[in-house]
Amino acid sequence: MIPYGKQNISDEDIQAVVDVLRSDFLTQGPVLPAFEKTVSAYCGAKHAVAVNSATSALHIACMALDVGPGDLVWTSPITFVASANCARYCGADVDFVDIDPRTFNLCAERLAEKLQRAEQSGRLPKVVIPVHMCGQSCDMEAIGRLAKQYGFRVIEDASHAIGGTYKGKKVGGCDYSDVTVFSFHPVKIITTGEGGMALTNDVELVKRMARLRSHGITRYPAEMTAPPDGPWYYQQIGLGFNYRMTEIQAALGMSQMSRLDEFVTQRHSVAARYAELLKNSPVSTPWQHPDAYSSRHLYVIRLQGPGGMALRREVFERMRASGIGVNVHYIPVYRQPYYARMGFDPADFPAAEQYYAEAITLPLFPDLTLEQQQAVVRSLTSPVGYQTLF
Ligand SMILES: *Cc1c(COP(=O)(O)O)cnc(C)c1O
Repeated sequence: MIPYGKQNISDEDIQAVVDVLRSDFLTQGPVLPAFEKTVSAYCGAKHAVAVNSATSALHIACMALDVGPGDLVWTSPITFVASANCARYCGADVDFVDIDPRTFNLCAERLAEKLQRAEQSGRLPKVVIPVHMCGQSCDMEAIGRLAKQYGFRVIEDASHAIGGTYKGKKVGGCDYSDVTVFSFHPVKIITTGEGGMALTNDVELVKRMARLRSHGITRYPAEMTAPPDGPWYYQQIGLGFNYRMTEIQAALGMSQMSRLDEFVTQRHSVAARYAELLKNSPVSTPWQHPDAYSSRHLYVIRLQGPGGMALRREVFERMRASGIGVNVHYIPVYRQPYYARMGFDPADFPAAEQYYAEAITLPLFPDLTLEQQQAVVRSLTSPVGYQTLF
């Protein structure tokens, strides 16, 4: 089976992990702050908080922004469920903004329309979570402008997008957002096994997120309610979690960071080869917005023939049967039973529905060979397959 995504682990990565295993600290040592510094410097953000997953990062970002019961958080319906679940952890309500059919990202125009209606009904969101689908940045300038106009905060779910740029600057700099979140799950651009990070330029937010990652505890006298009882002293300021990343994970992430640009370049080569192999086929290949340089996390094609869902299902089943690990990213979140129970109407999200009927993710990772790609395209377009369905 050719998987849809796969990590690249070098001898240097392995050595970096072994070095930590032979050191004094397996957690809460010197490598984690070094990893945070490396990522924040790369992205041009002032601060970073590494945690055990992007899901945890999204959760503490929402908490740091005081998301709670009665609040409303909006995100894209075409995302992994974690982008919405973080609001539910805080007791907030979730709603979705339909996607741009070209980029599959939360659409800034639909957002503007929905905000206008929400203002009239007095139910504006506290936080909006745009998701950089497939590694291509959302229209952050427009979203940032709306955030100022309507007074909501912005968390970028950039789980797909480390190494990408927007208007010439690295994703993660938080120029138009309060917090940006990355995932280091093995299918993503760089990996720590499991792991995530929250970046921000706001010193208050970084302090809050750092406490929330570790039980709500601080050891800084300046953050305490009273002078320390002694050098042993710490205070639990609020209710936090154990969301810490280990030194073992941070060492792997640190080592992976040195190849981040190389990974993204390799991903672009793979995408360019697909575009070439598919140029005479009827499938539509991913469109790239001129403002964004994608990190190319996912290669999503659309089968826009007659037959809709039935066609996609047939192609999907045949490709899986021939050992191609195709996938669908994503089932619209409002279709998940947990969210459907809240009363969403799929008809309110026509672009997401259309996307879901047509999308297939082809394998894409740095080490994917031309031969493997040819096998993928053969399976997709073979005479017994897609072309005969037209
Ligand atoms: C992978 C992913 C997450 C969750 O990341 P974890 O590190 O696995 O928690 C969140 N949002 C999006 C868009 C993702 O792709």
